[in-house]
Amino acid sequence: MTPERKRAQILEGRAAADAIKKEVADETRVLRERHGLSPKLTAVLVGDDPASAVYVRNKVRACEEVGIASERIALSASTSTEELLKVVQTLNANDATDGILVQLPLPKQIDDRVIIQAIDPAKDVDAFHPANVGLLAMGRPRFVPCTPAGIIELLDRNGVEIAGANACVVGRSQIVGRPVASLLLQRDATVTVCHSKTRDLPVVTCQADILVAAIGRPAFIRGEFIKPGATVIDVGVNRLTDVAEAREFFGAEADKRIAAIEEKGYTLVGDVHPAEADVIAGRRTPVPGGVGLLTVAMLMRNTVQAAKSRRGLSAQD
Ligand code: NAP
Repeated sequence: MTPERKRAQILEGRAAADAIKKEVADETRVLRERHGLSPKLTAVLVGDDPASAVYVRNKVRACEEVGIASERIALSASTSTEELLKVVQTLNANDATDGILVQLPLPKQIDDRVIIQAIDPAKDVDAFHPANVGLLAMGRPRFVPCTPAGIIELLDRNGVEIAGANACVVGRSQIVGRPVASLLLQRDATVTVCHSKTRDLPVVTCQADILVAAIGRPAFIRGEFIKPGATVIDVGVNRLTDVAEAREFFGAEADKRIAAIEEKGYTLVGDVHPAEADVIAGRRTPVPGGVGLLTVAMLMRNTVQAAKSRRGLSAQD
């Protein structure tokens, strides 16, 4: 008799994201009825990167779903730092705008640090401004960056115990790796942060009860990197165009993914090798359909929080 092949539980982002959006929608209704207030998010898109356009479209669509007013400002790919700075300053001064989102990455000629630093920290719903990064590092965040916040929600809503767990984060970016490590530490995990100079990476990642991969390399985290039974959070979003790789990575789902490559020219894969993780991990997030959905939901939550705190309303109002 062949032993039954275990398959990791798939932590779908949809259910958690829908639950958060429902909570936000309830909150915006109360704000409208009690305070005559309608939170507003302004998204600034510079250039014509197709992935960025999709992200902004999804964010604007989510605003409509939850009763947040939204505005999309599209600027040409040749926009200068000074021109973008003026747009940000205008939005800072506009009382109707509660949240400002400048979609990253920006075209090469723009100094993104100057832009991020120019956003009013009280409207910085992405939480990338140094003041908000500092507050998070001190353990008293004003806003929590959306992807890391979504990861914690996903763990909590699926009953994954964080306190006391060995957590390993692969990647140390300002957007994902560092803030998620901070949040896990605040929740009493024992946290290790790995990066491109880490020696014997699989030996380190293999200790983790919670493994977060935020690297940007397709299917980089193989089975040997994963502790049996671990919860694996796959943050990576990579475009895969090679049919042979799709066959290797996706196991039973390969035919569907190959059909997507043939139809659209690509399919998405995370930083985790899904077929190998399925055999070893206890739980894993899918790509797409995992962390990305939570990112948008948390942006909605941050925008409502910005609208309230700018007007002196508490979380309970
Ligand atoms: P990033 O800024 O490029 O950072 C990548 C990190 O991975 C760096 O810290 C780098 O180490 C590390 N790394 C690279 N190669 C490595 C290797 N061989 N071994 C160990 N570590 C390695 O990326 P990011 O912005 O954090 O994004 C990571 C991925 O998440 C991307 O695929 C991105 O598209 C995706 N993402 C998804 C969402 C979502 O909502 N789902 C949101 C944001 C990002 P060094 O620091 O040493 O260079």
